[in-house]
Formats: sequence, structure tokens, C-alpha cells
Amino acid sequence: MSLDSRKASNLSRKDSTARIDDGRRRLLKAAGLGGALAAVAGGTLLSAPTSAMQTRARIVIVGAGAAGIAAANRLARGLDGAAITIIDRRQRHLYQPGLTLVATGIWKPGKVVDRNDRYLPQSVNWIQDHVAEFDPEANRVVTTAGRVVPYDYLLVTTGLKIDFDAIEGMSPELIGRESIGCVYDNPEHAERTWQMIDQYTAAGGVGLFTRGPGGIKCAGAPLKVTMLTEDIARQRSTRRSLEMVYNSPGAGLFSQPDTNEFLKQEFPERDIAINWHHRLKGIEPEAHRATFATPEGDVRIDYDFIHVVPPMRAPDALGNSPLAWQEGGFADDGNWMEVDQFSMRHQRYGNVFGAGDCVGTPIGKTAASVKAQVPVAVDNMINTIRDRETVARYDGYTSCPLITGRGRGILVEFDYALNMVPSFPFISPYREHWVPWVMKDRMLQPAYNAMLRGRI
Ligand SMILES: Cc1cc2nc3c(=O)[nH]c(=O)nc-3n(C[C@H](O)[C@H](O)[C@H](O)COP(=O)(O)OP(=O)(O)OC[C@H]3O[C@@H](n4cnc5c(N)ncnc54)[C@H](O)[C@@H]3O)c2cc1C
Repeated sequence: MSLDSRKASNLSRKDSTARIDDGRRRLLKAAGLGGALAAVAGGTLLSAPTSAMQTRARIVIVGAGAAGIAAANRLARGLDGAAITIIDRRQRHLYQPGLTLVATGIWKPGKVVDRNDRYLPQSVNWIQDHVAEFDPEANRVVTTAGRVVPYDYLLVTTGLKIDFDAIEGMSPELIGRESIGCVYDNPEHAERTWQMIDQYTAAGGVGLFTRGPGGIKCAGAPLKVTMLTEDIARQRSTRRSLEMVYNSPGAGLFSQPDTNEFLKQEFPERDIAINWHHRLKGIEPEAHRATFATPEGDVRIDYDFIHVVPPMRAPDALGNSPLAWQEGGFADDGNWMEVDQFSMRHQRYGNVFGAGDCVGTPIGKTAASVKAQVPVAVDNMINTIRDRETVARYDGYTSCPLITGRGRGILVEFDYALNMVPSFPFISPYREHWVPWVMKDRMLQPAYNAMLRGRI
């Protein structure tokens, strides 16, 4: 981005706050919820809609998060007579995209907590347990209580595991203590992260911001936490007392090249230093010291606040099962489920499909990707039951309202080719705007709930 456009961006940042109320009204009037829905819809190719198909097929969905519930609603509507079972012991539903706003004091934690039973169709049988074993050779799963559940067709939507153990000295219980924060995990930890950020932006000192290597869900979240913390300190007039350092495990900040360039200019302009090739390896909570693995060897840095983002991987039951990549692909990186990245069908087990954070696709661990993947997986499963060709295709669509400060952000939408695929032609994905903020703060949660109900 040229200097001129950076200046324009800074100007528009100031103007945007003044224009936001008037503009928000115009946006809501012009686009309605439809605009927000379009932004999470993405590009997918589906087969022509038909009436509900009669079948006695036994379908098992493992995981009742964003993808599992959305799929249950679509399958219940698309099939007449199927025995659909969903397995998950978790009863509360978490609107995870809201955790960033909880961790930065903008939302209260209650706003992101809901109940799964409000979204699951009555015709779906819910087994409140976790799957301990996937046995695709025998077409069955076994729960932790030892219940054997056979299936004709399986959809895996287990989400992912946040691997706290991969960081020496770290455990989730430390979040909210000893100046440690982590936006991932759950609303209680996000709220405690806000207490840590609140203290840090008042007291100042060295703040370390980290990001786990490899595929993580919402890769924008660690960046958003960094920029919002910086913004909060500026609003409080304490910014000069903060020495902020973002530690990237690799040579970039974001996978989409234009957004990466934007951030590589934005961070230094905001006096956020960047350590490249710094992977968080361990912490000493009481000493407030972090160890990073770097190409030159281990580096220890003392901190007054640290935002810990562990590596992420498939949940153990899935990652250790035959459904995970066995060789090549993601076998050495995350143990993700092996699917064809376009059809969402397992590459070795034709009656098994996957969607959401658990699958090994090159990009796409976001709710926006779930929105695009689930209709594809469901459509292709139904056509498999019909004994027809699977034609639905997922193009890699993913999206992130990359919040750069309160009231502004950039709306990043891209596909497998890492090309920008903007849903709103009037919002440049290359400069800050108030619309992504309004989407994040007001519009995406209703759109997400509509997705859960299988309506979009
Ligand atoms: C801080 C943060 C910010 C984010 N911001 C955004 C954003 O701005 N935009 C966006 O689009 N996305 C965002 N996301 C990502 C988005 O929330 C996830 O990609 C999405 O929720 C993934 O849905 P899922 O169904 O795959 O997994 P989840 O919703 O996590 O659900 C997985 C379910 O599987 C269950 N499960 C796990 N193992 C088993 C087992 N063995 N047996 C049975 N059930 C099991 C779990 O209990 C859980 O209920 C954000 C996420 C976080 C954490």
C-alpha cells in the first residue's frame, strides 16, 4: 500500500468515527441482514434443490458446535425418515467469534453463551457424550461411556483441540493469573483475559503477543487482540508506557498476501514491534518470563503481560483414528481429518464427510468457512445416499472482520487461491472502514444463529 493510501487510511480512520452512526443506519437500511449473510455465505457450488428425500439411512454427526448443528438442521430438512443422531456432551453453545470482544472488555461473556437444545431439531437424537473411538472399517463410533453407535453415513464436526500442553509451563488454569491472557478456549477465560489486558493497559510494561504455528481457528484473533489492546491504551492515554511486541512463529503475519502487507505496515506505524520466527515454547508464570524457539536458538523475554496462543490440532479421538491423515497432507501438522478439500468427503471412506475446524483443508478454520462448507458436505452426503454423483464444491471461502481498533477494521474475504473475494463491492478490503466493525459488533451473531438453524 502506498504512503498516500496509508495517509488516506489514517484520515478515514478519524472521519469514520464521526460518520459511523449515520452510516450504520444507512448500511442497515440498504443491506439489511442480507448483507451480513452474504458476507458469511461465500462461494459454494451446490446441486439443484429438490424435495426431501425418503430414506431409512442411519446418519451420525459427531460434534454439536457450529458445523454439527447447522448440518443437523439441513439434514433433518433434506431427508424424510432418516435416523439422525448427534453426539456431543457439551450442552452450552458458544458463539466463539464474540470471544475477541469479551477479551477486550467490549462484550459481557453472557452474550456469547447459548444452549444447544434451542437449535437442534426435535427429530434429531442427541447423545450427550463424547466419541472416544472412530471405527470407520466397522462403520461405528464408540462413546466414552462405551456405547456403540453404528451408522451408514458419518459427518465429523468435532472442532479442534487447543494444545496448551505444547507450551511448557502453560495450562488453561493460568489464564487470568500471573499476567497471562488467552482469547481462545471459553468465555470465562476470555473475561479473565480482559482483566489482564485492563491491568496491563493501565500499568504498562512489556506486552508479548503470540500465535501458535500451523492452522489455528480464526487466524485474525491474535492480531485483533494485539491491535485492540494498543487502541485501548491509546484511548486511556497510557500508550507510551506500553512496549508491545508481536511474536510471529514464521515470516508473515497473515496468509492472505495483501492483508499481510497491510499488517506489516500497520504494526510498525503503531509502534508494535515484530519478532519474526519466534515460536512460544514455554513460560515461567511466576517469573513472568517466556521462552521462544528461534532459528538462532532459544530466546528468553521477561513480560508484564503475555497473550498466549497455543498450537491447535484435531481432538485426540479423531487425530489418533484412521480418519486422520496417515501420510502426506496434514499427517505431521495438526493430525487433521483427511477430506477432499473441495467435496468435504473423506478420501478413503466414501460414506464419511467432515466440516468445520477439524478438517485438513489448506485454509478455512472460521465460522464463515463453516457456513460455506456445511451445505457442501450435506449436499454431497445426500447425493451419496441417492447413489448420485457428488457435485457440490467448496472453494475455500473464509472471512475475517479484522478489527484494527474500536469502531474500525478491514473485511478480509478470500479463497483457496488466496484471492480476495469481497462480498461488498463498496468496501475496500485494503483499507480500514467502520462497516467491518458494525458487522462484528452487531450483524454477524444473528447471521451465525441463522446458519445454525440451517436457514442460510
Ligand atoms: C477467539 C475466536 C474468534 C473467532 N472469530 C471469528 C470471526 O471473527 N469470524 C469467523 O468466521 N470465525 C471466527 N472464529 C472461528 C469460529 O468460531 C470457528 O471456526 C467455528 O466455531 C468452528 O465450528 P466447529 O463446529 O468446527 O467447531 P466448534 O464450534 O468448536 O464445535 C465443535 C464441537 O465438537 C465437540 N466435540 C469435540 N470432540 C468431540 C468428540 N470426541 N465427540 C463428540 N463431540 C466432540 C465439542 O464439544 C464442540 O461442541 C473465532 C474463534 C475464536 C475462538
